[in-house]
Amino acid sequence: MAIAYFYFHAELNHFLPRHHKQVKISHFFEEKASIKDMIESLGVPHPEVDFINVNGKYVNFSYIVSDGDAINVYPISARSVIIPSISVFPEPLSIIHFVVDIHLGKLATSLRLLGFDTLYRNDYEDEKLAQISSSQGRILLTRDKGLLMRSLVTHGYYVRNTNPQEQIIEVLQRFDLFKLITPFKRCLRCNGLLEWVDKQSIIEQVPEKVRSQIDQFQRCQDCDRIYWKGSHYERLQQFIDGVLNSQKGE
Ligand SMILES: [Zn+2]
Repeated sequence: MAIAYFYFHAELNHFLPRHHKQVKISHFFEEKASIKDMIESLGVPHPEVDFINVNGKYVNFSYIVSDGDAINVYPISARSVIIPSISVFPEPLSIIHFVVDIHLGKLATSLRLLGFDTLYRNDYEDEKLAQISSSQGRILLTRDKGLLMRSLVTHGYYVRNTNPQEQIIEVLQRFDLFKLITPFKRCLRCNGLLEWVDKQSIIEQVPEKVRSQIDQFQRCQDCDRIYWKGSHYERLQQFIDGVLNSQKGE
């Protein structure tokens, strides 16, 4: 029987059982395995890991763990104090866009409201989510550790909060998105981009009451849904203000 010693830093402890949090973990093993597999067997999904140090040297995910190894595993936040020579984090995406798992529908709608390209359907299965994330270079947002552990997933993030309002702020902070917020640009229903349309061209499609009160309308380029600043607008604007104010309060 061989043994390796793991220490997980900062927010990676979130994924560990209580008796493994913030302590050196003695991990016994018989079969040789990559460090990626061993980290995941202890409960931490690989997309959450930024860099790994074994016996004083930085290694890749393919490193095969040896008897007696002392292993430190770090999340991205640790870069504020350590600059590693090797990172297992994937190349940053040139465009930030998301695919969101079926349990995070409210988060998906909030991201669209703030202008972020976000794929979401309530019938996407895990395999499909992983495929979309991989083939389209979309960050997979989920609260399912098993989904993040799929090898196809490189850019993924485990959403810690359960409250939708806190979730959106968590994601904006994690990916530094506050500056990129452009509200009322996307269809909340299908993620399509909105365009301004001439009132006369869509007048038949809106309720009679709205026709006399509202002059400006947007239409989804994909599903043709019409948007206007009606009674729901104030509530959405309040939500957006709340999000923007959360940044100031940081
Ligand atoms: Zn639409």
